[in-house]
Amino acid sequence: MVNRTEETGVVLELQRLSTEDGPGVRTTVFLKGCTLACAWCHNPESIDPRPQVQWMGNRCIGCRTCVTACPQHALLLAGTGMQLDRSLCTGCGACVTACPSGAMDLLGARWTMQALLAEAIKDRAYFGPDGGVTVSGGEPTLQGEFCRSFLVSAHAAGLHTAIDTCGMAATDRFLAVAREADLVLYDLKEADVTRHKAFTGQDNTVILANVLALADMMRHEGRPRTLWIRTPLIPGATAADLNIRVLGGFIAENLADVVSRWDLCAFNNLARDKYARLGRDWLYAGTPLMSTEEVQHLVGVARSSGVDPGIVQWSGRTKLDDPLVVENHSADPGPSGLGGC
Ligand code: SF4
Ligand code: SF4
Repeated sequence: MVNRTEETGVVLELQRLSTEDGPGVRTTVFLKGCTLACAWCHNPESIDPRPQVQWMGNRCIGCRTCVTACPQHALLLAGTGMQLDRSLCTGCGACVTACPSGAMDLLGARWTMQALLAEAIKDRAYFGPDGGVTVSGGEPTLQGEFCRSFLVSAHAAGLHTAIDTCGMAATDRFLAVAREADLVLYDLKEADVTRHKAFTGQDNTVILANVLALADMMRHEGRPRTLWIRTPLIPGATAADLNIRVLGGFIAENLADVVSRWDLCAFNNLARDKYARLGRDWLYAGTPLMSTEEVQHLVGVARSSGVDPGIVQWSGRTKLDDPLVVENHSADPGPSGLGGC
């Protein structure tokens, strides 16, 4: 018999005292690995399912100790900075251990379920009556059995549980995980099948089918208890009247009896440095924040799309906001820089 507490998963990080990933104060667990590759991804270090090395040039003293320590000969320190051949890197961490100045870091580590739960439970005094734990990613259902076991154990420990999913998963696996969550935060990003594929690498056929299957499960089994839909507002992509109107029509027609909230999450540009540390360009590096007027216009489109207007909320920073001022709920990007969806 499998001892579930010994199951392991690759975890990017835990974010404590989160107020963005469900009700109340929560600990959010970010699992590594994603089934989409959104052009605007705010969490690029979560896409690869393996632990990943990153180099922080401002800490590097140029000693080349890491280059020598790497058993795969994957590192080269050149005039332009550290070059890492990711096709050779195994994520062994030898360069991180060897670096004398903390300039190499390993994103992601393997955790046992027991250790992860113990870490999440540490903060339960802050959760209050509404808070709990949320499993996010990446796409949490990619590590389906680990995620499911974690939710079961967290629930048994008396915690409110949530998952934050893009919905791109095999339906059986997705439902098996979602059944163990009290709340599902479900991303509907783009209504048009072709544009969805262009923006995220996959079309939205499975995503739409899975949210319908989820709604059926809610009606027949009462699990999960609550569904929130989230839509990132990305300038030049999803932040378009037509997209919001069509998504609203879909929600109104198919999910009205099970959805309790539709969050529109304004684009933020805080992931720029993350892309730089991973040695990647970012299409949205120069994209400014949206104005409050632009976001409120789309909120108006959503509220007149056929859904109950009372379920539509928005979050995130806008051009005129003081970085510390937030709308509805926190725009603090937190350690993962997500700032909402
Ligand atoms: S993690 Fe290991 S294989 Fe990858 S660069 Fe560092 S030492 Fe080399
Ligand atoms: S060991 Fe650290 S300080 Fe030395 S070259 Fe490598 S990253 Fe830079």
